[in-house]
Amino acid sequence: MSLPFSDNDLLKASLEAISDAVLITDARLDLPGPTIVYANPAFCELSGYTAAELEGQTPRILHGPDTDRELLERLKNQLRAAETFRGETVNYRKDGTAFRMQWSIRPYPDDAEPAYFIAVQRDVTALRDLEQHRRQLQRLVDIQTRVGTAGLDLQTLREQVAQIGLVVTGADGAAVEEAMGEEMIYTATAGTALSSVGMRLPVSASLSGVCYRTQKPIHCRDTHIEPRVAREAADRVGFRSGLLVPLIYADQCFGVLKVYAARVNAFSESDMEVLSMASQVLASSLADARLFKGERDRRRLLVDSLPILIAFIDQKVRYREINATYTRWYDRPADQILGRPVADVMGQAAYNNIRPYILAALAGEHVTFESLFPHPNGRVIPVVVDYTPERGAQGDIKGFYALVRDISDLKRAERDHLTGTLNRRGFDERLEVVCATAKRYRRPVALIFLDIDHFKSINDRYGHSVGDSVLTAVSHELCEAVRESDVVCRWGGEEFAILAPETTLDEAEKLAERLRKTLADRQHPAVGHVTASFGVAELAGEENEIDFIQRADKALYAAKTAGRNRVEWAN
Ligand code: GH3
Ligand code: MG
Ligand code: MG
Repeated sequence: MSLPFSDNDLLKASLEAISDAVLITDARLDLPGPTIVYANPAFCELSGYTAAELEGQTPRILHGPDTDRELLERLKNQLRAAETFRGETVNYRKDGTAFRMQWSIRPYPDDAEPAYFIAVQRDVTALRDLEQHRRQLQRLVDIQTRVGTAGLDLQTLREQVAQIGLVVTGADGAAVEEAMGEEMIYTATAGTALSSVGMRLPVSASLSGVCYRTQKPIHCRDTHIEPRVAREAADRVGFRSGLLVPLIYADQCFGVLKVYAARVNAFSESDMEVLSMASQVLASSLADARLFKGERDRRRLLVDSLPILIAFIDQKVRYREINATYTRWYDRPADQILGRPVADVMGQAAYNNIRPYILAALAGEHVTFESLFPHPNGRVIPVVVDYTPERGAQGDIKGFYALVRDISDLKRAERDHLTGTLNRRGFDERLEVVCATAKRYRRPVALIFLDIDHFKSINDRYGHSVGDSVLTAVSHELCEAVRESDVVCRWGGEEFAILAPETTLDEAEKLAERLRKTLADRQHPAVGHVTASFGVAELAGEENEIDFIQRADKALYAAKTAGRNRVEWAN
């Protein structure tokens, strides 16, 4: 199929009907260059000129300051070589407004010395704007993501904000500046500004100060022209052109984000738009972080003032957080504890004792136990330890919080001064727990009461302090003779109680008999043999502790009345 090219009217009608702009010039490439011989209505509409105004003109009337000179040079060279040229640059309408033009220009004819250049042109301004918007949107999303993942640590976030400014604008340097009294302070920096962190400039005599006070963005194209710049400081940090945006959120100005470059006019309006749009997101994150920091500082004060060791220990059993009580306990600065393995800090032997509990906590268990903690001063301190595991979002164990409380005072209060065994107070607590457990699991538990025979006469004959030494010796022997799980208590005076979990009446009677014999066989210096009488009872069903004690006591009384140095039991 071929067009009837000889029909000039048809050809013209076609050119007038199409929506692409068509411009035909003659093929003169030497000065003053090609002149326009034809422009179709689409071209006239786009450029704002009439066909008559264009005719005989050079296409240079369409060029302006943002027209790409290099591109024009390439265009000329390609046409000279009789090649079709494709390219894109800015052109100007009759009224001076700019638009982006995509060109396809070909010589005609292309098989001989060209007589004309045919330019088919398309306005791509809207398309390019759309693309730019999309890029800006993408930059904003990037910013959101970066801020969103920066966490809530204020300083980290400030640094992240400076970094974001640097990356999204392609700046050389970036700084977050905050007002402190009469000064703007560089609280975080990035790029070439890195070493300027902490720098201070008067609010009244710096461009950031202006931005902060007016709460308006500033696009500074050249610091050597902008009179409000602190020139000496700007030259020192290499700030020749830059963008400054106030970080405003909820009517509060957090500070100023400044991005800058060492060359003149390094930033576009689009950079400014993105930075301005981002500033609210950045400011809200910073405001949150500042609030969080305030709360954290208050919490820190509280945590540091508690007389409890508080630490966060990670999966590798290293200290990740500690309160001030730790530094006091170990008498060394926090940085000699943080990051170090627990075993290093507390000593391998002490660590081995608590290792099973640590493993349990790292397996997700909430652990509470009593232990003996070696203090660096050589003393061993009774403590109650609490481990609470912390899980990540996926349920994985990140580590655990350790609370260690010194219970020396508590321990002292439940021990008998003279013998070191539990006193009534300590015993009562154990009795309650042991009886409750026995009832719940229907396990046997026995109670043995013993009273030293004729102790008054020992005191009378040898004196009170000898009496004391006998009490201590008897207590020692009782503790040695019973199981670890048995509880020995000085009930009062020369009377002792032994609580034996998992023990039937029969077994308790045998135990009592063994104890009786051990005591009776022993020779005390100065005093000789000392005997004791025993009363034994086994917890019956739902019996309460008072009745349980009374039955054992009664059995003891029975042993006394039956002649002493013997064991009696309660039914
Ligand atoms: P019985 O065989 O009937 O138990 O005779 P007893 O002398 O052991 O019993 P009694 O209850 O009459 O005397 C107990 C004595 O224990 C009286 C008290 O002075 C003495 N005693 C109580 N507490 C202590 C103590 O802490 N140290 C010393 N040395 N003696 C104590
Ligand atoms: Mg007695
Ligand atoms: Mg007595």
